[in-house]
Amino acid sequence: MPPKDGFTVAHFLTVAIDGLLEQLKINYRSRAKQPGRHLRLNDLRLNGTTHESTCGARVRSGGWPEKSRSTMPNYEAIVIGTGQSGPALARRLVAAGRKVAIIERKLFGGTCVNTGCTPTKTLVASAYAAHVARRAADYGVRIEGSINVDMKAVKARKDSVVAVFRDGLEQSLETLQGCTVYKGHGRFVAEKKVAVNGSELAADQIFINVGARAAIPPIPGLDQVPRLTNSSMMDIDFLPAHLVILGGSYVGLEFAQMYHRFGSEVTVIEFGPRLIAREDEDVSHAVAGFLKEEGIDVRVDSKMVSVEKQGNLIAAKVESAGRISQIVGTHLLVAAGRRPNTDDLGLNKAGITTDARGYIQVDDQLRTNISGIWAMGDCNGRGAFTHTSWNDFEIVAANLLDNDQRRVSDRITAYALYTDPPLGRAGMTEAEVRKTGKSALISTMAMKDVMRAYERGETKGFMKILVDRDNKQILGASFLGLEGDEVIHCVLDIMYAKAPYTVIQRAMHIHPTVSEFIPTMMDRLKPLQ
Ligand SMILES: Cc1cc2nc3c(=O)[nH]c(=O)nc-3n(C[C@H](O)[C@H](O)[C@H](O)COP(=O)(O)OP(=O)(O)OC[C@H]3O[C@@H](n4cnc5c(N)ncnc54)[C@H](O)[C@@H]3O)c2cc1C
Repeated sequence: MPPKDGFTVAHFLTVAIDGLLEQLKINYRSRAKQPGRHLRLNDLRLNGTTHESTCGARVRSGGWPEKSRSTMPNYEAIVIGTGQSGPALARRLVAAGRKVAIIERKLFGGTCVNTGCTPTKTLVASAYAAHVARRAADYGVRIEGSINVDMKAVKARKDSVVAVFRDGLEQSLETLQGCTVYKGHGRFVAEKKVAVNGSELAADQIFINVGARAAIPPIPGLDQVPRLTNSSMMDIDFLPAHLVILGGSYVGLEFAQMYHRFGSEVTVIEFGPRLIAREDEDVSHAVAGFLKEEGIDVRVDSKMVSVEKQGNLIAAKVESAGRISQIVGTHLLVAAGRRPNTDDLGLNKAGITTDARGYIQVDDQLRTNISGIWAMGDCNGRGAFTHTSWNDFEIVAANLLDNDQRRVSDRITAYALYTDPPLGRAGMTEAEVRKTGKSALISTMAMKDVMRAYERGETKGFMKILVDRDNKQILGASFLGLEGDEVIHCVLDIMYAKAPYTVIQRAMHIHPTVSEFIPTMMDRLKPLQ
């Protein structure tokens, strides 16, 4: 059954792909280039009919013609940024009859589509293929000769997947009736006015969806050496001989494992005492364990104090336990946190407040301190995932258009780390449960005891579930193992239902799956000591 608003995250991708297919159907009748105009409606024919009659979208890019300034129409809503929430909200708003402008300064679809989830998961898939090929003999499959990774082909595959999503989204927005697309950097010039390409757009409602970018820590020399971020990593079509990664958290670890599997030597430098410090210690140690076992050099408790170029190499001075050592690599990836894209948004002109790190301050319905202005996605600091940004869209749309008072505080923490095996997380960690002082039950199971994992020859990791002893509701789960990113939804949905764990305990799950052991784990709950 289609959801009431017609869009879900999966739908986002479907729309993107549909948009691309639609684009393929379009014949360009003439392609006379006009400055400031990316696409001319008069040039489009859709299935043999002139497209302008069925499509009200306008596309503006580059400099706006001088004479248009005074005749610039006002809008009812302006969306700044085409991340995960902006485009979906624009669609809901035009469906509700609003006249909408949407502004994108760079790549449609933002981080997730272009430099985050989609490309990294595509690369993770290539790395997994190389890994399995090297392990082929474990499965009785003989591969003659060596396993080589063609990085140009890996990148080309990644680029083609990304292009489907990005181009499909761009096309679908450009053909969205009632929505005008502006290609340029949007910046507030007053409370309800945004400048783009030298023009001023006004609207009573403004939605900020500008995302975040890699933070570059103030390490001496870091601004003097060639450095990579998650964005520039996307242009790499060769194998770095030795990739040094600054940061042992989610982004850094995905790149670490994939590049090691591609064939690079990889060193991870982490300042804290363990990797992915937000997770429980047993999770951190298990992840560090399988990364080291694969051959990745993991250095925790290690502070990069300076970095310099040495010929074609990059040399980092690293302090650990009071001693300084040097790590020399061919390439350096900085994966040391994110910062919001709010520093060049003219927020002060609109009086919009941020916290000390630049995240826009919002309430439980994602309203900023200025009435009629909302902030969604990574830039509000209330989540750093595609699904949290999408959920932000749902919350804003529900409150604004559906008289449904959804709240950020209604959502349950959930995310995944896409190493192999992946980590799926929901709710509280064990450490967080302990901090609450609740009377809790815990159950753990090693993946080597899960038949499906055994059959697949992928037995690394473990699963852990925590339950409130009094009301029997699930407090949290960490599934580090085969399909952990999928299996976690078994418990996540029960948590949303606020149902007791006994519902899962009595459920009949399919054999052989990883999920079939979740009821078994419920049988084995014991007091958290
Ligand atoms: C390497 C990596 C891997 C990731 N993997 C995952 C994952 O597997 N799963 C997951 O859930 N999350 C993942 N994330 C996080 C996820 O990508 C982000 O949380 C998500 O993309 C946030 O989307 P958003 O809606 O906040 O905005 P973004 O996607 O960041 O988009 C913001 C858009 O606004 C535009 N913009 C910015 N400023 C302006 C301006 N002034 N004017 C006009 N346009 C502007 C930008 O160009 C951009 O297109 C990953 C992130 C990284 C870095």
